[in-house]
Amino acid sequence: MEEQRAEGERAEGLPIPDIFLNSDTKGPLTNCVQCDYDLMKGDRYYMIEKVFKKYPSFQKTEVLFEYAVCSTCYENMKDQMSAESMANLSEYMMMNTDFGAMQLRIQEFPDDPEKWLSHCMIKGTPKEEMTEFQMGACFKGDRLVTNFMPPFMIGELAMEEMNNLLSKETKDEMDDFMGENFGIPPELRKDLILI
Ligand SMILES: [Zn+2]
Repeated sequence: MEEQRAEGERAEGLPIPDIFLNSDTKGPLTNCVQCDYDLMKGDRYYMIEKVFKKYPSFQKTEVLFEYAVCSTCYENMKDQMSAESMANLSEYMMMNTDFGAMQLRIQEFPDDPEKWLSHCMIKGTPKEEMTEFQMGACFKGDRLVTNFMPPFMIGELAMEEMNNLLSKETKDEMDDFMGENFGIPPELRKDLILI
């Protein structure tokens, strides 16, 4: 079956990298966290975001939280962000993302997306040197989609800088999202940046 895919389709048709699987079941995240849409039907794009925290004393990296959100809910969430926050965030990303380094990693390992995520895309910090980082990517069904944006990783420093760019109303919105969907205590909710 795989061989019969068209060339262009295959280019964006990598399977879900292990790092984006459900950390409990090791299978795909099958449903939208907000509307419960069945993402495995494969007719709607969706985003997966995960936040990791490393506990040096245990030599262990834990998933703080992970979710998949369908494109419809994702657009709604973005609509709820203030225009000011959106503008600040896009400007920050445009000015600070090291697109060249990202492109090089993709060229070097075209079939291994986890290797694209070896460094913070903003600061260039290697993953091994970070205690907290966030990853995200776009998918459709059981396939990684890279034509809107490649999978990304952002380390703690960039996360903090981006957080400081958000308006109070946007932070409140995100607080509500985290509380409603994960029951995450307020002191941890600051961790999520919606890209
Ligand atoms: Zn949804």
